[in-house]
Amino acid sequence: MKFFNEIYGQNNALDLLRRSFARQMISHAYLFCGPSGVGKKTCAKAFARALLCQRPAEEDACGECRSCRQVEGGNHPDFLKVEPEGGSIKIEQAREIQRRVTLAPFQGGRQVCLIDRAESMTDEAANCFLKILEEPPAGVVFILTCVQPYALLATVLSRCQQVLFQLLPVSQVALILARLPGVKQEEADLTALLSGGSVGQAFELLEGGSLAESRKRLAQTIDAIDSAGPGEACRLAGSLSGSRDETLAWIEGLMLWYRDLLIWKESENEKLIINRDFLQVIKEQASRREAALLIDRLGKIEEARNRLSRNANPRLVLDVLFLNLCRPAEGKQGDGFSASRK
Ligand SMILES: [Zn+2]
Repeated sequence: MKFFNEIYGQNNALDLLRRSFARQMISHAYLFCGPSGVGKKTCAKAFARALLCQRPAEEDACGECRSCRQVEGGNHPDFLKVEPEGGSIKIEQAREIQRRVTLAPFQGGRQVCLIDRAESMTDEAANCFLKILEEPPAGVVFILTCVQPYALLATVLSRCQQVLFQLLPVSQVALILARLPGVKQEEADLTALLSGGSVGQAFELLEGGSLAESRKRLAQTIDAIDSAGPGEACRLAGSLSGSRDETLAWIEGLMLWYRDLLIWKESENEKLIINRDFLQVIKEQASRREAALLIDRLGKIEEARNRLSRNANPRLVLDVLFLNLCRPAEGKQGDGFSASRK
């Protein structure tokens, strides 16, 4: 479990939490909003430990008292954690929150209730939770985390202090990864680039060994696009579609890949290639494509990324992108491929 000063990035969020803790100006409900994998839950646990600590230092928990050890061990009786079960937070879980927070704290201090992915509450659960928030029991602090605040009831939103979390700069993610045992600098740099600024995503890529696998899929997808008609384009889009973050990761991956193809085409400098471990594939794919086509595709992918960041539906963004990608480059005679295409 991390102390505040061990959490990287998110300085705005951390400053706000540390300040309110140092002054003991604690709200009864916080909403930690931001993309997944950027440290919301890590911060929520650190904040909960600080709130429950029996001998807090100026701006953080002591890490040693009984209460701190209980939070660490996951058995603090006044720390209630709620997360989606089977995809949603259900009415029974909301009723359990209601029951627990009306009891006096077991250890005489505060009670803290952490609700992870709060936007996954069913309508019934959200309405039940709203009633709790409308008359918040004294000494109870709610910490909600969410990726999509617009999916919460406006009345819940307005009763929480919002704490915003952001994607980290790629260089910062690389720094975090390079400190892990057994991770080489080159691997850290590449993973950070592919993570799009989400440490959680980067860990997943590293742990699952899925880094090479997902890029193998990218390489195959890029070849498949070239011969795809509209039906096949939609099928390809469907095979990659997932959550907003997953979709963003694929789009960023495609962008980096086409970037590599273009860089190789224009410079033949291996050092400038990001997907360096796929160098042979990059060289071979670049040799079959013209620079104008690659530039056109990069433009279309960037457009898709912008649409996604403006909250468009992820599946729809991918469908439109792949339909655009399988069309010939704009303003070009022919299809922009070299003669050796087939
Ligand atoms: Zn403590």
